Amino acid sequence: MKIIKTVHEMQEFSLAQRTGGKTISLVPTMGYLHEGHISLLREGKNRGDVLVMSLFVNPMQFGPKEDFSKYPRDFDRDSGLAKSAGTDVIFYPDVQEMYPEPFKTSVYVAELSGMLCGKTRPEHFKGVTTVVMKLFNAVLPQRAIFGEKDFQQLVILRQMVKDLNMPVEILGMPIIREPDGLAMSSRNTYLTMDDRRRASSISKGLLNATEAFQKGLKDGKALQGIVRSDIQAAGLKEDYIEVVNEKTLKPADVVSDTARIVVAAYAGNVRLIDNMPLKKIKKKK
Ligand code: AMP
Repeated sequence: MKIIKTVHEMQEFSLAQRTGGKTISLVPTMGYLHEGHISLLREGKNRGDVLVMSLFVNPMQFGPKEDFSKYPRDFDRDSGLAKSAGTDVIFYPDVQEMYPEPFKTSVYVAELSGMLCGKTRPEHFKGVTTVVMKLFNAVLPQRAIFGEKDFQQLVILRQMVKDLNMPVEILGMPIIREPDGLAMSSRNTYLTMDDRRRASSISKGLLNATEAFQKGLKDGKALQGIVRSDIQAAGLKEDYIEVVNEKTLKPADVVSDTARIVVAAYAGNVRLIDNMPLKKIKKKK
């Protein structure tokens, strides 16, 4: 497994691979890997010839009061896990390499970036789209793999790629969960034991809502209410709970086939996000 730290070397490597007829899959990460990241790496390995994982804690997507400096980092552990999952290259630039001064350009996907998480984190998605654009230009992948854990991010990136004619296929992969249902996240390490226990109420609420949907409940507000009562009973503070259209992220008053229930909530000081699709399970005849 190679470790590449500069944009120039990364581009040279990727151009040589592409000239040799190879396809490149990219899995962008901020490191501190867990099974969620590993599932994306496995998918990338299965789908392309060369698997690149980027590891970059991107300052541009953190707000001024957010956790950039204390975000967990452990390169040795991450590189061991990435290697075991079949990664061929870790692209591991530092902040100076990605944002040499003066840096003046950003990519912003209007409307979608201001909804849901964008309300409490107004600059966040601009940071995400800018860095992903830069990672694509450095790694030159034909395909990039992201988790549905960050569902809004996935919708925004699909829009960016479409709007800007970028020749990259975006793949979304299902959420990997802890045994009690909590969606895996590098930020779960911030939870106290007590908050960690309460945090599973988010996925329980989502499951209860999806079960009610399967039984015929289609009213968005009523489905929202089911999640709300579960997370409130556990003492979590809601940021938002919404039933949204999967493509537009606009509220769905009545659930159709393309809806998703999305949540952000605080367990103590830790902001957690999760979501589940609302899709009718087709019964076998
Ligand atoms: P991060 O390192 O948190 O920026 O995440 C890197 C990628 O892993 C993103 O595409 C995330 O959506 C994805 N990811 C994070 N957690 C999970 C999870 N529990 N299941 C699946 N994918 C995940």
